[in-house]
Amino acid sequence: MMLFDKLIRYGMPFVPKSIVGKVAKRYVAGEEIADAVSAIRKLNAEGAMATVDVLGEEVREASKAEAAVEQYLSLLETIEHEQIDANVSIKPTMLGLKIDEDMCCSHIKTIVSKAAELDNFVRIDMEDHTCTDATLQIYRRLLTDVGHVGLVLQAYLHRTVTDINELLPLGPNIRLCKGIYREPRAIAWKQYETVRSNFIYTMEKLLQGGAYVGIATHDAHLVWAGMATVDRLGLDPVDYEFQMLLGVDPELRRTILGQGHRLRVYIPFGRDWYPYSMRRLRENPTVAHHVTRAMLGLGPR
Ligand SMILES: Cc1cc2nc3c(=O)[nH]c(=O)nc-3n(C[C@H](O)[C@H](O)[C@H](O)COP(=O)(O)OP(=O)(O)OC[C@H]3O[C@@H](n4cnc5c(N)ncnc54)[C@H](O)[C@@H]3O)c2cc1C
Repeated sequence: MMLFDKLIRYGMPFVPKSIVGKVAKRYVAGEEIADAVSAIRKLNAEGAMATVDVLGEEVREASKAEAAVEQYLSLLETIEHEQIDANVSIKPTMLGLKIDEDMCCSHIKTIVSKAAELDNFVRIDMEDHTCTDATLQIYRRLLTDVGHVGLVLQAYLHRTVTDINELLPLGPNIRLCKGIYREPRAIAWKQYETVRSNFIYTMEKLLQGGAYVGIATHDAHLVWAGMATVDRLGLDPVDYEFQMLLGVDPELRRTILGQGHRLRVYIPFGRDWYPYSMRRLRENPTVAHHVTRAMLGLGPR
């Protein structure tokens, strides 16, 4: 079964888009803003907060980046209007990072300024290593100029410890995750246990250094390490939060909430669901099972 799982995982690009769509449904709220609002309402009712991502990445035309800004402004207005507990997550390449860094920074500033006006918050997702330097620079500029903004750091990158040393004096708000992109060994830890160890090391460093941390993982060992660290440091539940992705391990979600911690769920929505869904499916340990059932025309179990 493990070999079959691996074959399916590497063969995912050859699986028909309609099958990918069926299997990946659980990871995406839907195509419209109303779908995201209804997913947020359900999670808020469970006691969880949300962060909403408009699906899309790597635009090459300036007009598409401008359209993405408009989508985010309207999303922030909707969150305010609907009185739901959610902030937003953005991807710099969707806002033109690969076209022009200054233009991208100005687009992100427009979104962050709107969030500041509404007393909301923008999280800048971290993409592959070709974006890391520029994303950090944009974050530093906006943190100083506007506030109401946070960044993501990836425990698999060698540089993350140094980045934390440089960011801590600014009182950063950091989502810490393992990292999802396929990075070369020259810049990233490759072994599962080493990434875990670096997650724990960097999480402790951030929390001890006074940063607000979004502990973003479904790895129960890391969730335990997070709970143990905040207890040891005597932190208040408002000083940090756990974060999980929509569609992954609702039981762990309930466990975290049941222990009195705050938890935020990442909710993607939109028409451009394919690249995001592919990344999620590759991570799913039982992807072969789900793909096989969908191919046989059987529903999810
Ligand atoms: C809120 C949030 C935001 C994120 N933002 C970013 C970002 O900006 N940049 C970035 O590079 N990465 C981001 N990630 C992804 C992250 O880097 C990891 O790739 C992802 O969280 C899987 O790592 P893990 O810590 O859950 O551990 P893993 O060891 O991968 O997973 C632990 C367990 O969780 C379950 N699980 C994990 N993924 C799935 C899945 N897709 N389907 C079903 N079960 C699953 C399995 O039981 C697995 O054994 C984000 C993750 C979260 C939770």
